[in-house]
Amino acid sequence: MSDTKKTGQNTRLVVGGRHKEWTHGVVNPPVYRASTCVFETYAEMRARTAAPNEKKLFYARKGTPTQWALDDALSDLHGGAGTLLYPSGVAAIAGVFLSLLQAGDHVLITDNAYEPTRGMAGGLLKRMGIGVTYFDPLAPIRPLMTDRTRMIFTESPGSLTFEMQDIRDIVAAAQVHDALVVVDNTWATPLFHQPLAHGVDVVIEAVTKYIGGHSDLMMGSATAGERTLAALKRGAGHMGQTVSPDDAFLALRGLRSLSARLRQHEDSALKVARWLRGHEAVADVLYPALDSHPGHALWQRDFSGASGLFSIILKGGDYADTAAMTDGMRLFKMGFSWGGYESLMVPSDPTPVRTATRWSADGPLVRLHIGLEDPEDLISDLSDGLTRYGRHLNGQSGF
Ligand SMILES: *Cc1c(COP(=O)(O)O)cnc(C)c1O
Repeated sequence: MSDTKKTGQNTRLVVGGRHKEWTHGVVNPPVYRASTCVFETYAEMRARTAAPNEKKLFYARKGTPTQWALDDALSDLHGGAGTLLYPSGVAAIAGVFLSLLQAGDHVLITDNAYEPTRGMAGGLLKRMGIGVTYFDPLAPIRPLMTDRTRMIFTESPGSLTFEMQDIRDIVAAAQVHDALVVVDNTWATPLFHQPLAHGVDVVIEAVTKYIGGHSDLMMGSATAGERTLAALKRGAGHMGQTVSPDDAFLALRGLRSLSARLRQHEDSALKVARWLRGHEAVADVLYPALDSHPGHALWQRDFSGASGLFSIILKGGDYADTAAMTDGMRLFKMGFSWGGYESLMVPSDPTPVRTATRWSADGPLVRLHIGLEDPEDLISDLSDGLTRYGRHLNGQSGF
C-alpha cells in the first residue's frame, strides 16, 4: 500500500493489505474458498486472461483476496515489489532457487544454513547442474565469487549456530559480479530486519514460524524487488505453487500481532539468555542480542530487535547427560520448528552440517525457543534441567 510507505513497521503490520474491495467493510478479508472464478462476458474473460497477474479473480491458483492481503502486507513490510506464497518455508527456498537459477550457474551458500537448504543444494541443485560452494559466514565472500556465481544465499543469523553475516559486504561483492542476493530472514522477521533495504534481491520468510506464530500452520514467502519478481512469478506459475485461503487467513491473523508477540519473545529471551550466561554448566550463549556475541555489532547495525531463538553450549557432558536434562523438562518440550507461543528445546550437533568451517565446541549444543510463558518459570525449568545435566557428568560432581 503506497500510502503507508512512510509509516512505522507497527502501523504497517496493522494496515498492510487491507483494501475495502477485498474486505467489504469487515476488518479481515473473508476466507475465499475457491477454485473456479466465473466471468459474465467473453470480453471480461479475455481481459483477465491477458493480465493474469493482476489482483483480480481469475483462477484460484493465482490467489484470491485472502492470499493477496497477506502478499500485500508482507510486500509492504519489506518494501518489496511483490510477494509469492508457498506451502512451506522449504518450498519457498526451492521456489526461489528453481525460479532464478539454471544449469551452469554457481551459487554460494552460507555454511550455517538451515539443514534442509543444504539438503536441497546437495540434491536438487547438483542434479540440475548448478554448482554449490559453501562459505564461512564470518569470512569475506569476495574471494569465492566466480564469473558463474549467480546467487549468494545467506541466513543471518544462522538458525542453529547464530553467526551473523555482513549483508552490506555481501551485497557489494554480488554487485561486482551482477549476482543476486537472497536472505532467509526467518529469525528476524520483517519486523526486525528488512534486507531489501540493504540491496538484497529476495527475502524468504518461513511464515510457519513467527508470522504464523501459533504452531498451527505451514507456509513460506519470498518477497522480491522489481529485478526478480517476474521470474519468481513465472517459476511459481510453472510449478503450480499456491497456498490455501484458510492458511493465508491464519498467517494474516498471526501477522497482525507479530509486534506484540516478538517484543515479549525478545524481552523474555534476553532475561533467560543473561541468566544462562551466568550459569556454571553453560560454556556459551549464542544470541546476537548479547554484547558477548561476536556478531553483536552487526546485529546492532542492521537489526531493530532479536527474536526468541538462540542456542547454548553446555560444558562437557554426553548424550546421557543431555537426555537427563531434556527428558524432565516441564515447559521446554523437544520439537522442531519454533516461532509459536510455546517454549521449545532441541539438542543438535552442527558437526555433520558443516563443510566450509569446522564446528569445534567441546560440549553439546542445545537450541532454545523462548516462548510467551513467564520468564521466571522458564528459568526455573532450565535451572532444574541444568542441575540434572550437571549431576550426570561422568566422574565429576554436579554443578
Ligand atoms: C523452519 C525454517 C525454514 C523452513 O520452513 P518450513 O515452513 O518448516 O518448511 C526455513 N528457514 C529457516 C531458517 C527455518 O527455521
